[in-house]
Amino acid sequence: MSVPSDYPRTLTIDGTAVETAEHFGVIDPSTGQPFASAPSVSPAQLDSAVRTAHAAYATWRRDEAARQKALLAAADAVDAAAADLAAILVAEQGKPLRDARAETYAVSLWLRYYAGLELAPEIVRDDEKGYAEVHRKPIGVVAAITPWNFPLTLAMWKIAPALRAGNTVVIKPSPYTPLATLALGEALRTVLPPGVLNVVTGPDPLGTALTTHPLVRKISFTGSTATGKKVAAAAADDLKRVTLELGGNDPAVVLPGANVADIAGPLFWSGFLNNGQTCLAVKRVYVHESQHDELVDALAAIADGVKVDQGLVEGVQLGPINNEPQYERVSGLVEDAIAQGARVAAGGSPVDRDGYFYRPTILADLSDGVRIVDEEQFGPVLPVLSYRDVDDAVARANNTTYGLTASVWSHDPLHAAEVAAEIDAGQVTVNAHGSAITPDLPFGGHKHSGIGVENGPWGLLGFTEIQVIAGPPRGR
Ligand code: NAD
Repeated sequence: MSVPSDYPRTLTIDGTAVETAEHFGVIDPSTGQPFASAPSVSPAQLDSAVRTAHAAYATWRRDEAARQKALLAAADAVDAAAADLAAILVAEQGKPLRDARAETYAVSLWLRYYAGLELAPEIVRDDEKGYAEVHRKPIGVVAAITPWNFPLTLAMWKIAPALRAGNTVVIKPSPYTPLATLALGEALRTVLPPGVLNVVTGPDPLGTALTTHPLVRKISFTGSTATGKKVAAAAADDLKRVTLELGGNDPAVVLPGANVADIAGPLFWSGFLNNGQTCLAVKRVYVHESQHDELVDALAAIADGVKVDQGLVEGVQLGPINNEPQYERVSGLVEDAIAQGARVAAGGSPVDRDGYFYRPTILADLSDGVRIVDEEQFGPVLPVLSYRDVDDAVARANNTTYGLTASVWSHDPLHAAEVAAEIDAGQVTVNAHGSAITPDLPFGGHKHSGIGVENGPWGLLGFTEIQVIAGPPRGR
């Protein structure tokens, strides 16, 4: 498998390929060098993308059966383009091909799920006094804004429900990973009616230009909490609807007596999924003091054996960090932790080669109050902290402004479930972390990790407005 040489070079606006005058470089994280360029949308082209979405909305919103059919056709088109989409993800995001394939597979899975989801009005009463129904109406033009860690999955968490509910979409991916979304636009250009899905790319402040466009009625944003606050502020002025999927600092609590040999593997990969660049990755582990060293040694042994390389290399398990600022941030946080007395049990430094490769790192003997524990580090690092009693562990797990996901690990799943209920996060899983990610389950954060949810019928409702239709008795 090699990377396609004909990268997507055009925006998708009104169902057509649109060239731009300006372009920006896309960096291959495995070399640190530009390998492609992406179109930089002009203000006039952005305006045209939103206007065309607004025009298409008038028709798209009316025919539910046509929308369901179109989403199924879109799923087939994504499957047909899957090999190229996965190769592009490897090239611009850095993830191993196996992970890129899984991400591409999720795109058509989500399209098929939403194609089949019913959105029928709810009849609250219908009797001799009259009837009242609760309808769900689409909102209008949706601005979808995505980050660089899962460009395609997160795009489809927005596109599929937004379109299913009858909205139209203008999507803007991260400037670090524009190509996969451009390729998605290409794949769906002739499958969906013109104007229903528009793809624009460019460096920021493109995001601001999109969120403040007066014809945008809903913003569905995934990214950092800092940017999410700006998006919420931009939306407030015009009372645009918002869904915000933001950062996390996810704790894993290992209960006393857990079987370390059993949990070390799944716990490790829960932290290092996508190189730790996953909103729902374990970011800090709390383990009873009697098992701290045993768990650290087990995690370190796994870390030392991980194959870190370019995403197309046979047997690769982790690729590079996606971009230079993130690489610098992770390196800086590890150095800070070491200066604060952390013990490096594995990794702790960059790989000595070009690109943004960093050795999978296990840090031990840490306490809360160190930046790598308190902040979202979003990289291939797992700090392990010890606790004296479970109440202390839960209090420390909850001592964060974030509340995205969490996990509890134990040989006693029922006890673990009780402890799970004490943790303030949108999803808490037992003996696994972030594992309840399926199209039919809601996903969203508490506290500063977000507003609203994506996925399942709950995610669909986020792309609708409620309308009550009531009247006199229906001719009984
Ligand atoms: P980011 O906030 O820097 O950027 C996200 C997107 O917002 C990009 O497309 C960016 O171009 C755009 N953007 C930047 N400034 C903007 C503005 N003022 N208005 C509108 N859009 C703007 O985040 P990132 O570094 O790309 O992604 C990493 C972050 O995303 C992490 O914090 C991670 O936890 C979070 N994330 C959350 C989830 C979730 O579901 N909760 C999923 C994945 C990633």
